[in-house]
Amino acid sequence: MNSIAVIGAGISGLACAARLKDAGLAPVVLDKGRNIGGRLATRNTRTGQQFDHSAQYIKANTDGFADVLRNAQEAGAVGPWQIQHGTRLVGTPGMRSLATYIGDGLDVRQNTKVSALRETAAGYDVTIDGAVETFDGVVSTVPAPQAIDLLEDGHPCIKELARVEFHPCLTLMVMVPADQAPPFTTLREPDQPLSWIALDSSKPGRTSRNCWVAQASPDWSRAHLELDADAMVEQMLDLFCARTGFDPATPVYASAHRWRYAAVSKPLGRPFLNANSKPLYFGGDWCLEARVEAAWLSGTAIAEDILQVHG
Ligand SMILES: Cc1cc2nc3c(=O)[nH]c(=O)nc-3n(C[C@H](O)[C@H](O)[C@H](O)COP(=O)(O)OP(=O)(O)OC[C@H]3O[C@@H](n4cnc5c(N)ncnc54)[C@H](O)[C@@H]3O)c2cc1C
Repeated sequence: MNSIAVIGAGISGLACAARLKDAGLAPVVLDKGRNIGGRLATRNTRTGQQFDHSAQYIKANTDGFADVLRNAQEAGAVGPWQIQHGTRLVGTPGMRSLATYIGDGLDVRQNTKVSALRETAAGYDVTIDGAVETFDGVVSTVPAPQAIDLLEDGHPCIKELARVEFHPCLTLMVMVPADQAPPFTTLREPDQPLSWIALDSSKPGRTSRNCWVAQASPDWSRAHLELDADAMVEQMLDLFCARTGFDPATPVYASAHRWRYAAVSKPLGRPFLNANSKPLYFGGDWCLEARVEAAWLSGTAIAEDILQVHG
């Protein structure tokens, strides 16, 4: 294949492109976001705070991903975070650092939105920011519901993509004044409206202080998904202060983020979906489970399949 487009610079897209590049191909990664990493994200505010507002820590259950994390740790992109229940690996100085590490040297185009994919005699026409480019092959790593939007009505993959379901997650980012002592480092309470609260700035390599992240449970997030930004902050801040004992009147900074497709609840059940005789693949964490490792496994499996079948 002379040209291949990978849609999405999250971990699955980056893992796929990195493996293809290692094998001598020249994939182009297209991502609508400002930064690399997708849902492995770090928010740097204009007023100087930093928050990991999506994935909180990274685990490896497979040898392949454990090798990636070991190498990333040696390179300083990952480090250990000490919490009450043991040690967790996190990106350093932010969760996004692991994406930057995996994506190093790749041709990634940020702020680049793909709106359509169409099979042609030559390959695939990809509509990118309104203009059409043709590629021999395409890998889409966007969440399954968003992949459907790229396809023509009646495309044979739509049926399986439509079976995949996600939980949303509303996330609060708060900086509290320095004189308010932290009651804990992390609190996981799956049955509470805020199912995870963490002193984000206690992770290694952070320069911010007193910065917290709180994530709402799937049920609470679904029930409050369409709140506007101010109402989301207000309601989540009240919940956060009720659990931590902080004074809701005094946050130095507070904002919220709506992850509409946060965590797959009904996955595809295999590492990827592919279509026609011409290479078109769909992957991402949603194929397997809602974890960074699953995204890496899916992207890597797609690359191996491309190399085996079309290489
Ligand atoms: C709140 C939250 C907490 C989480 N906590 C953890 C955790 O603690 N541990 C863990 O292992 N995992 C966690 N996860 C899950 C983890 O973040 C994901 O499994 C992983 O990052 C998904 O990677 P991905 O590449 O499959 O998808 P994504 O990271 O979503 O990448 C898809 C990319 O596609 C881009 N894109 C979408 N549409 C288009 C388009 N039309 N054109 C161009 N680009 C497009 C997006 O900008 C994005 O960058 C969490 C996720 C969330 C949201």
